[in-house]
Amino acid sequence: MNFKNKTVLITGGSRGIGRAVALAFANRGAHICITYNKNEAAAKDTLSILPAGNHRAFQVDVQNSDAIRTLINKIAEEYSRLDIVVNNAGIFEAHPIDKVSYPNWQRIWQSTMNVNLMGPANVCYCAAQYMMLQGGGRIVNISSRGAFRGEPNHPAYGASKAGLNAMSQSLAQSLAPYNIFVGVVAPGFVETDMTKHLLDSPEGGKIKNQSPLGRVAQPIEVAQAVLFLAAEGSEFMTGGIIDVNGASYLRS
Ligand code: NAP
Repeated sequence: MNFKNKTVLITGGSRGIGRAVALAFANRGAHICITYNKNEAAAKDTLSILPAGNHRAFQVDVQNSDAIRTLINKIAEEYSRLDIVVNNAGIFEAHPIDKVSYPNWQRIWQSTMNVNLMGPANVCYCAAQYMMLQGGGRIVNISSRGAFRGEPNHPAYGASKAGLNAMSQSLAQSLAPYNIFVGVVAPGFVETDMTKHLLDSPEGGKIKNQSPLGRVAQPIEVAQAVLFLAAEGSEFMTGGIIDVNGASYLRS
């Protein structure tokens, strides 16, 4: 898969899956724009591991719709193209219904939906305006197994990812006439900062054994599916959702 001179935007590229996606595209010739929220040092670390190219990091809270529009305009101005967008930034905050207070329940629902669903919706809107003008593009959204399997301790997370799946499928239909293709990758557990507290807990062994491989995914394994959906030749996959969960939750 060759992405030579493609401009790729990856939200939340400072750490975890986003960093692996950035590296995977950069290794195949792309110019990378990553965003981060608070962790500038991690964003710089990501840039430092990328092979040569015109790579940049931008501080953008995906909850800020104006900042998203400004970001897309900046990329359009500086790179004169935006070929691929990966909506990866996300949060995963516990709020079990039998333990959390009502104010915290509402706070976490609000922030989860804002970051995991409204953020990607606004990125898709702004990117699609530009991609329609340039004659096409690719959008890959990072969802989760939790959208299908349920998230008893993180219900807003599961709902946000189910919403992301539905939005992606709607946009796949509305944007195909503009040569814009939309895919989804739905990982199970991946070894990143997001899951470290769970994997390091006494539950860690059980979590690993959810997969018959006896382990969780590495970020690069998720990146592999992202590359596939963004590659030339995958156009007819538009609207598709690729599971990357080591057979821990199978659906047909
Ligand atoms: P991670 O290691 O916690 O990294 C999260 C990334 O999102 C960071 O780059 C962070 O920026 C950014 N971010 C968080 N809130 C943001 C905001 N408000 N605005 C902009 N950026 C924000 O997460 P990960 O495990 O790599 O997860 C990446 C994606 O995969 C998420 O959508 C997640 O839901 C999904 N996913 C993960 C797993 C898993 O097991 N890890 C499983 C299924 C799906 P800073 O560095 O600045 O904080």
